[in-house]
Formats: sequence, structure tokens, C-alpha cells
Amino acid sequence: MTPTVLVVGLGGTITMTPGAGGGVTPALSPADLLAGVPGLADLPVTLETTDFRRLASGSLGIDDITALAGLLRSRLGEHHAGAVVVQGTDTIEETAYLLDLYHAGPQPVVVTGAMRHPGQAGADGPGNLLAAVRTAASEAARNLGCLVVLADEIHAARRVRKTHTTAGSTFQSPDGGPLGYVVEGRPRLLNRLPRRPALDPPAATRPPRVPLLTMSLGDDGVLLDDLGGRVDGAVIAGFGGGHVPQSLVEKVQKLAEQVPVVLASRAGSGPVLTETYGYPGSERDLLARGLVPAGFLDPFKARLLLCALLSSGATPRAIESAFAAS
Ligand code: ASP
Repeated sequence: MTPTVLVVGLGGTITMTPGAGGGVTPALSPADLLAGVPGLADLPVTLETTDFRRLASGSLGIDDITALAGLLRSRLGEHHAGAVVVQGTDTIEETAYLLDLYHAGPQPVVVTGAMRHPGQAGADGPGNLLAAVRTAASEAARNLGCLVVLADEIHAARRVRKTHTTAGSTFQSPDGGPLGYVVEGRPRLLNRLPRRPALDPPAATRPPRVPLLTMSLGDDGVLLDDLGGRVDGAVIAGFGGGHVPQSLVEKVQKLAEQVPVVLASRAGSGPVLTETYGYPGSERDLLARGLVPAGFLDPFKARLLLCALLSSGATPRAIESAFAAS
């Protein structure tokens, strides 16, 4: 029996054609996209499609991705080798991570997109889609959770980031590099990350309200004022190893007394420190005041883990251990 791959469309540049008001807008269905991929019909793979959303990826919500996680759980059966999710690249680093948190099965869920729309010379959509289907159908990609495949690189959802607004090589995993590559049409996995136990996607309720606050030079903390009463949790993207101006320490502590607050770094790679600096506003100071270190998770992924944990009713202790294991 040939392996089956489920292809789910969410929109993004890969689906965009000229719109009435100028510029390109999401238009193509997954079936339209697959029809335009040279070589796909020759693969020993049966394809199923679901047209789930047609949006720019910045307009997807946590509820859309939670619903998609539920769909993947119910649709992926024994005869499925894996799934491909096709979407805009702007938020792939977030959607793929959220899907990864909820994906329990052995089948790879491979997220892909394109940096150039179908009307541009050198459009990368067809090549990315072919590489994604090959990865989703591959034995080598089983039990790796959710992966991001673009430009023939295979990245872990937990580590990948969009690093450039236009470059074809925009997707990078700054902490540890890609897990592998698609070479001569074959997914070759060189590294793997230990898998974490999956969370259960929550029932359709309001996603928790968790703002991300990025520190900047001379920040007076206006966004922290009275924040605790309006949110369910917060992530602070601190300077360097996880630092805030000393003038904000009291406001941050007050917030952490009201809701869970996770400390990440705005630096772009590397972990939050835990035991180096001792000045007011340093990571040691903030952790002693109750903030939870994000480890190697960047601020965007840390926010999604906190949202998922809050949705599942996790206790403060469970939140700490989930971040410690992330
Ligand atoms: N703005 C687009 C989106 O994320 C960009 C892309 O798909 O590359 O939907």
C-alpha cells in the first residue's frame, strides 16, 4: 500500500495571486498547489487535501492552530505516513511550535510555505511542497514531532526561526542548526531533539491572554502598569541573558505575584541565564522574584508554551517543570 500524506492549506504567499486591489492575496487551494508541482505525481504517495484556512499567516490565531491540532489528531490514521501544513512564512516559527506541543502521534507533521509567490521568477513553493511531502512520507522523519521544511532544510519546530524578511535562506535554527536536509529527494536526518510528552488541545474556549513585553533601552515600563489584572500570564523578552532595567524590577515583581511570568531573551539565540549576574534586574534577581526561565525557547515560542499550559490548567509548579524540560 502506498503511504498517504494529508496536505492541509492555511494560506500564505505560496497560495497568493494578484488581488483586485493590487498586491497578492491568498487564493489557491491545496489541490491547486499540488497540481503545479513537477515530479509530485511520480512519487509513490497518495495525497489527501483539506482546505482549512486561506489567510495571511499573521491573521491566524491560536484558536485556528488549536483547531488544526485537533483535526490532525482525528484525521491521521494508521494508513497516513504524515501530514503537510502549507501556510505563510511570517508565523511558521510559532504555528509549527504550537502544533508540535499538541502532536502526539508518530507521523511527522511538516510545515512549509514559500518566500516567493507563484507569479514570481524562481517561485520556491513547488520545490518546498515537494520536499515537505517527501519528508512527511519518510520513515526517517517518524517520531520527530512537527518539522519545518523550506529550501531543502529540515528544522525542528522547537528551534526554527524566520531570520530575514526576503531571503530564501530565511529559516534557521540558531541553537543547534537544522535536523537534516532533503538531498537528491531523500530526507537525511543528522540530528534529533528529544521529544516531549504532548499536551491535549483544549476545547474551544478563549485562548489565554499572554502579552510579550520586549525590553528596550530606557524602557519606563508603561506597558507593565496595572497589567496583572488584565492578563493570564506574560513573557518578558529581556536584554542578553535575561535582564531588565533596575527601575522596572518592582513592576515586574508585582506582575509575577499576580500571574505566571516567563523570562526569555530578546537576543535571538542562546538560553536565558540562571546563575551568573547578581545586580537588580539581572536574571538571578528576577528568578528570585518568581519569574520562570524560558531556557532555550525564544520569546515567541515561550509565549505559546505558556498559553498552552494555562489552557490546560497547569499549576505554577507544572509551568516551571514544563519550561525546565523545554
Ligand atoms: N505575509 C506572508 C504570510 O505569512 C508571507 C509568506 O507567506 O511568506 O502569509
